[in-house]
Amino acid sequence: SRTMTFHSLRPPLPLPLESASVSLTDFIFSLLNSSPPSPSAVAIVDAITRRRILYPELISRFENLVSSLRTRFSLSKGDCALVFSPNDIYTPILYLSLLSLGVVVSPVNPAATVPEIHHHIRLSKPVIAFASSDSAHKLPPLKHGIVTIDTVEFELLMETQSEKKEQEGITVNQSDVATVLYSSGTTGPVKGVALTHRNLMASIAGGMRPVRTIPLVTYCTVPLFHAYGLLLSLRMVASGDCLVITGGNRTFDMRRMYRVIEEYRVSHLALAPPLIVSMGRDAEIMDGYDLSSLQVLISGGAHLSKSTIDRLKKRLPKVQLAQSYGLTETTGRIFGTLGPDETRTEGATGKLMANCEAKIVDPETGAALPPLKSGELWVRGDFIMRGYVDNKEATAEILDREGWLRTGDLCYINNEGYLFFVDRIKELIKYKGYQVAPAELEQLLNGHPDVVEAAVVPYPDEEAGQVPVAFVVRQPGSNIDESQIKDFLAKQVSHYKRIRRVVFINSLPRNASGKVLRKDLVIKLLSPTPKL
Ligand code: AMP
Repeated sequence: SRTMTFHSLRPPLPLPLESASVSLTDFIFSLLNSSPPSPSAVAIVDAITRRRILYPELISRFENLVSSLRTRFSLSKGDCALVFSPNDIYTPILYLSLLSLGVVVSPVNPAATVPEIHHHIRLSKPVIAFASSDSAHKLPPLKHGIVTIDTVEFELLMETQSEKKEQEGITVNQSDVATVLYSSGTTGPVKGVALTHRNLMASIAGGMRPVRTIPLVTYCTVPLFHAYGLLLSLRMVASGDCLVITGGNRTFDMRRMYRVIEEYRVSHLALAPPLIVSMGRDAEIMDGYDLSSLQVLISGGAHLSKSTIDRLKKRLPKVQLAQSYGLTETTGRIFGTLGPDETRTEGATGKLMANCEAKIVDPETGAALPPLKSGELWVRGDFIMRGYVDNKEATAEILDREGWLRTGDLCYINNEGYLFFVDRIKELIKYKGYQVAPAELEQLLNGHPDVVEAAVVPYPDEEAGQVPVAFVVRQPGSNIDESQIKDFLAKQVSHYKRIRRVVFINSLPRNASGKVLRKDLVIKLLSPTPKL
């Protein structure tokens, strides 16, 4: 029923006419220039190396890199470039340069293993990769080569000046694919998510502050290869704000995070829920630091529990908690908390972003439900991906003909339009905000000669949110044990996908049509006297 559609209460976004040829990069710079930053304003700073890039330098490095990319690597519109690096001070400049040429940007987690990289490459078909020197060795040869970005050579690409306007002759349409990110969606293996220039424009425009006063200092602790960090970093440039990163491959350290907040007078801290759990739990660590600059904690990517919120509020009563909700398939945040008023509704993950619609659908009957009733969240509008790359079936499973995307999340919307996340109904497991696709681990397990079949399900964990647990049916006569199964997987997958526990079982519970009853397996794990 149409009447049960929730419309965004925000004003429509000032986007260009859909038919206009405008790249995301043009759009970002037009937003930036609508209120130019002072020449001494810092665009990006790496708090580890203390290297800072001011706005004029960002622009000149961008212009030089664009011309280098075109002349040195003969990249053309529609080519795909893999970006394979931990957070780096040059990542946003690289994104902007590639996008201005109509090159599709595909960032991959630098922790990916060789087989995982091959899967990504099969999906996005890159002709070139931009990698950090410590991860480049994992990549296969590509048509136009592999460029290491933390090197003098890369610096030179951004310093060599060119008189020519190198973007001339290139027309980027808003409907062109801008990025291919990776997600398993509601079911099955990892797929390539095609987002258009228009998708990213809408997502970035939707998060702009209405009035710019003094620049914000946002510390982005999340990876720039995920939709969350990618969009946040580009939005910082669009708004002339300062983006703080901690570059390089290092394990997260709470003390260092507080030191960065203190030293750079960070006003906005963008993170995923596991860090908020740590902040509340190891609260005494905070004591030695001056965190008075901190105004807003931006949290997204996974659920924040009420107890975590309460602990944080006790510890940092003046800091606003701005939660957001989104999927890679919705160009990141599609419900967001914008401005102090919206942070007051405790536990909510924000309001619907502009240019979007939502429905709460009864998973059994398909009926659209009224406010306060829980059902599957469906969303539609300018933020919704074009589809999964070269995969019509998987696209049709999540995106219907009217443009509605089924999120696979159980939620409700209250009378004021705030979204509340209740439970995940899709297979997806989220470990510290990272996606773990059960189908991928199951396929590997099923390939082991001692395994008849296997199912992977989430188990709740305070810090990680969820950890993957495997139920395994062994071949008759096999006595393969838990650690052998764990090792078998650990050799093949990124660390965050590792199985934390293995349960041997005689057979997997299935419904009449043969589908594994994952919820029953989760219930078995949670019951105090598990009957396995
Ligand atoms: P990803 O594509 O990696 O961003 O994962 C999207 C999924 O993360 C969503 O479908 C949700 O299950 C989960 N998620 C994202 N944001 C939130 C949130 N604020 N609360 C609960 N779950 C979330």
